Amino acid sequence: MDIKCSFCEESFKGHSRIVTKGSYAICTDCVSIVKEIFIEFETSETYEGGGVCTICGKHHSDFNKVFKGKKVHICNACLDDIEDELGEMKMQEKEEIVVTETNKRGDLSSRVRSEIAELKAYSVPHYKCSVKLDGNESPFDLPSDIREKVQDKLNSVLLNRYPDPGADVLRGKLSEMTGLQSDQIVLGNGSDELIEMIIRAFAGGSGKVLIPAPTFSMYKLSAMTLGYEVIEAELDSKFDLDLDLFRKHIEQDDPDVIFLASPNNPTGNCFSRERIIQIIESASGVVVVDEAYCDFSGVTFLDQFSDYSNLIILRTMSKIGFASLRLGMLYASAEITKTISKIRLPYNINSLSQAVAEIVLDHYDAIRANISIIITERRRVFERMKIIPGLELYASDANFILFKINNADRIYKDLIEKDILIRNFNSPGRLENCMRVTIGTAEENDAFLKALTGILSS
Ligand code: PMP
Repeated sequence: MDIKCSFCEESFKGHSRIVTKGSYAICTDCVSIVKEIFIEFETSETYEGGGVCTICGKHHSDFNKVFKGKKVHICNACLDDIEDELGEMKMQEKEEIVVTETNKRGDLSSRVRSEIAELKAYSVPHYKCSVKLDGNESPFDLPSDIREKVQDKLNSVLLNRYPDPGADVLRGKLSEMTGLQSDQIVLGNGSDELIEMIIRAFAGGSGKVLIPAPTFSMYKLSAMTLGYEVIEAELDSKFDLDLDLFRKHIEQDDPDVIFLASPNNPTGNCFSRERIIQIIESASGVVVVDEAYCDFSGVTFLDQFSDYSNLIILRTMSKIGFASLRLGMLYASAEITKTISKIRLPYNINSLSQAVAEIVLDHYDAIRANISIIITERRRVFERMKIIPGLELYASDANFILFKINNADRIYKDLIEKDILIRNFNSPGRLENCMRVTIGTAEENDAFLKALTGILSS
């Protein structure tokens, strides 16, 4: 059946290019055109009057709310709905095509493990903004003299050869820095890889992984993709560990692995040391203290290490200036590392990352200096945010600050329009209307503070 677009009056046979609303219809092309005109309205001062939307029947007084076509008028909200519907139709159409193609060679979807089929891939919105404060990276590059050394070292890497399988030189340097033996260190392609390795190696008892909520999402994602059960224990009102709840789950579920990120992401706080120790002592499985942000808190469990045979510590180079290397460190007893090494894929740390990291560790003072700048900036940004009305701030021991704000989704978009990207965590529950801003350079932080103040006061 042909459907006529009420705007351009063209007829459409296919259902995916046109949406009907009561006795009216609008096609994809007209949606795009009207959308563009709406955007122009926002900056135009000549367009007069609002009007009644033919679709929803509501009267809008604002000039930028209603587009007056020849026969139909449509408001911004109805247009948004139609755009969503068209988007969904397109997705369905794509799925239909994929199913038809796969059917030719047998339906592969029936072979996907059900835990995976139900999951959504980890995704980070990839907007290009000049001020990038969304990923908890360091804003600093290496000083030029160290960069030159890195360059020289990279020139000597044999690109045709496999990397050193055990990254022995690098582990040797880390051993010197930490006072651990080399065989107590396992390296991963980011600590993300180590998280997965720990679960793969140790979730063979109850098959359960216990984590606080909210926390870093990869613990849950990795456990679920591997087919293990995840138990989430809500943090208390101060985002600290609820010890009774943890104890209850330890007794009831006997988790194989417990992940505790301290400082926690995205809340930013360190968990109370005493509570972490109580959990390590009560658990019979392994307890992972993820110290991804410990350089900014100055708190570590490395000294506790020899007391607890079930303790694993994770660290990463990502937050202190080397996210590109994908290099994570696991510290544990030689017994634990022996088990984990059995499932480590050969050559998981590439030669280029090994080479750069070796130089970086030889010049750790420069990194320490950058860490101090970030800590000072975190304090300054926190104090400045405190005086911005309408924000609820959470104290941070990390290189980011979590805050609650009215209408986070809107603020997120407004900041992007001002070329500033932070992370929006808005979702029902504890993180409703919460956003996380990474500490950048003083200039970047000022740009963020100015933009946020401007948006809130407009
Ligand atoms: N642990 C925590 C708590 C994190 O926030 C992150 C990064 N967002 C990671 C681990 C992963 O770090 P990497 O880049 O080393 O994979």
